[in-house]
Amino acid sequence: MLVLKFGGTSVATPENIDKIKNIITGYTDRIIVVVSAFGGVTDQLINAGYRAQKQDDSYKTILKQIETRHLEAIKALLPVTDQSKVLSNVKRELNVLETLLDGAFFIGEITKKLSDKIVSYGELLSSYIIAEYFKSQGIDCAHKDSRELIVTGLANGRTTISLEQTNSNCINFFNTSKNKVVICPGFIAKSEAGDPTTLGRGGSDYTAALYAAALNAKVLEIWTDVSGMYTANPKMVKQAKPIAHISYEEAMELSHFGAKVLYPPTIQPVLAKGISIRIKNTFSPEDDGTLITKSKNEKGKTVRGISHIGNIALLSLEGPGMVGIPGVSKQFFEVLSQANISVVLITQASSEHSICIGISVDDVALAVAAVNEAFAYQIERGRINKVVPETSLAIVALVGDNMKNHQGLSGKMFSTLGKNNVNIRVIAQGASERNISCVIQEKDVKKALNALHEEFFEENIKQLNLFVMGVGNVGSKFLDQIQQQKKYLKENLKLNVRVIGISNSRTMVFDDDGISLKNWKASLAEGLKADKEEFFKTVNKLNLRNSIFVDNTANKAVSDTYKDYLRNSISVVTCNKIACSSKYTNYHELKELARVYNAPFLFETNVGAGLPIIDTLKHLIASGDKIQKIQAVLSGSLNFVFNNFSDKTTFHDVVKQAQEEGYTEPDPKIDLSGVDVMRKILILARESGTQLEIADIGNNSFLPEESLATTSNEAFFTSLKNHEAQFQNIYRQAAEKDTKLKYVAQFENGHASVGLQEIPKGHDFYNLEGSDNIVLFFTDRYPKQPLIVKGAGAGSDVTASGLFADVIRIGNY
Ligand code: ADP
Ligand code: ASP
Ligand code: MG
Repeated sequence: MLVLKFGGTSVATPENIDKIKNIITGYTDRIIVVVSAFGGVTDQLINAGYRAQKQDDSYKTILKQIETRHLEAIKALLPVTDQSKVLSNVKRELNVLETLLDGAFFIGEITKKLSDKIVSYGELLSSYIIAEYFKSQGIDCAHKDSRELIVTGLANGRTTISLEQTNSNCINFFNTSKNKVVICPGFIAKSEAGDPTTLGRGGSDYTAALYAAALNAKVLEIWTDVSGMYTANPKMVKQAKPIAHISYEEAMELSHFGAKVLYPPTIQPVLAKGISIRIKNTFSPEDDGTLITKSKNEKGKTVRGISHIGNIALLSLEGPGMVGIPGVSKQFFEVLSQANISVVLITQASSEHSICIGISVDDVALAVAAVNEAFAYQIERGRINKVVPETSLAIVALVGDNMKNHQGLSGKMFSTLGKNNVNIRVIAQGASERNISCVIQEKDVKKALNALHEEFFEENIKQLNLFVMGVGNVGSKFLDQIQQQKKYLKENLKLNVRVIGISNSRTMVFDDDGISLKNWKASLAEGLKADKEEFFKTVNKLNLRNSIFVDNTANKAVSDTYKDYLRNSISVVTCNKIACSSKYTNYHELKELARVYNAPFLFETNVGAGLPIIDTLKHLIASGDKIQKIQAVLSGSLNFVFNNFSDKTTFHDVVKQAQEEGYTEPDPKIDLSGVDVMRKILILARESGTQLEIADIGNNSFLPEESLATTSNEAFFTSLKNHEAQFQNIYRQAAEKDTKLKYVAQFENGHASVGLQEIPKGHDFYNLEGSDNIVLFFTDRYPKQPLIVKGAGAGSDVTASGLFADVIRIGNY
């Protein structure tokens, strides 16, 4: 004998029911098929009852929908000749259901008995229709109402199973019935007094387990819409995988902590008989699914699954009157038990000063009233504080039999959550050490599950979620590079880099499954209107692990939003120099926020584009070296200008050419006046540990006053023409001494300056080509021969690769 249970989705449509027929005809053993109501019907019945009781006649609409759905299923499944009997039986049942709902409507009340009777129609109708369909297909099949077999009792206000009666009913019936297949409704039963009862939401699994145990079935198969019990709910964690083999205890723990694929009470009856459970997928029957047995799980596996329960509230009983006074906790739990409230999690501070429990949000009002009433005397005297519930919480649990033999799992769990800015409200560890659970905010659940899953199951693959603002030259190159390297990063660095949000100044687009980088331009063009605040809000709301904001703009308003990101543990990578060269207090605050919120703030491309200048400096300092002097040519644009300027050209034409070839800022005066270089040496000075402002930097500008005073590009270029003689003079003087002109930035003894210098032959700067940059670090360890970083210091390609390198640094963080 086998027992197969098919859940709501598996029986939701005639096509699905046909799949079940194909599955069961493959078996040679006798089978009991337990079915749920058609998917969604139980919810509709509960809803209809609720409305009727509230004297809201819209229950009639719901009833109509239920009727149409069942009648259409009959018409789709049965040959016309068989339909009329089944249609009239179902219509008769639906009339009774209507009478029951009308009764609730007229009285304005619904009793537990009536509500159980109403919801039982879901399984009654589905099992009857399916049985008739199988018969019509020539299957040797009977229909048996589970209310005639499963008997419930009551203990402490909760429904229990009267096992003796149930078992003997089952044995008597199935030993005398001869059909190969017997179809039974799940979920529904009858009390000892003969009233309709139910086994709780998801209870069809339990019905099937009771049959399996009563009849010593070979196996209990739970057929559902996923291919087994997964390492985490596959609807929340895309990377989750089915668990091939798991112990009863682990499965029970996972289901207790919310793995809905199995209703928690299901395991007990089959465990007692040593009957294995297999979870199978109706929509993919060839998949192995999950086997649940007594045997221990495979060696070396510690965490087997992660699950969560939503809709949790915390109640804390606290107060000076709790210390050393026996019986307070006893009374607390008695009150809750009398109010029929089930406690999902308990923690007690060792000071005995407080007990904290997790319960379902649905029970909060009742629990708070009961506890405050029971402790009214102590509350009035200030011995115990009135309980105030905390809501919008959830429990996340790691489960595994072997967890008790391993140190460091909870450390890993909490540091993973901490790194992702998930605040942990309460921690509990089961005495069996089969689970470690904690209470977090409901809004963080998806992020927490995914981060934990990545940590414990994904062979170190780390997902990085990027939000890219600015897709001009640099930004679009950056996206190209990500697309090109995606596969390499996954295979070699174990980084799964996804772009979730993109914005330019006009539109923005998000896709939490990752934007396809093949056609991001088209997606962006169809996006929402761009808005920096909304962009941040969306990033924050999506609440994805390892989120990184990438700023490719040169916009101050964008740099003003970094703090919002960092405060929410979202890393920031930027090539925009404005933040780091703004007031020292602002720069310092950003660095502090990054430290406090564990979110890297990286800006390598602020100096020398993709060259590893800041990273090198950081490593020198971290390893204990001291900076004596920094000398550098940091302006690709000025280097280009002075490498091309001579007595054969004009200064004006060379600057124009530099602008046209993209080597200058849109406003070339920012480069020519030395402001851009000042910002860069300021950032290097700050990264060396010196508190400096831009106004502290000496700038011996070679530009005439008139050029510095211009307010438009046009006026600036005219002024260059007007002063050609002065520029030629600078050139001649340098050429006569056989030197080259370089715009040099220097930092020494806490002072920084920038200016044009005549560089003699043999100097490291002399042969600097094109738009290259060079930095000489003179340190205690490199006192005479400096550490040199040199190479292309401008251009969108190298800047994009510098941003890319920062993203990878965060990935390896
Ligand atoms: P049925 O209607 O077949 O009884 P349920 O909806 O009750 O199906 O249970 C199956 C669902 O359980 C899956 O679709 C999935 O969303 C959810 N689920 C939660 N946790 C897990 C898990 N760890 N493994 C598999 N499914 C899970
Ligand atoms: N139909 C019931 C429910 O939705 C029982 C079940 O499907 O297991 O809860
Ligand atoms: Mg279920």
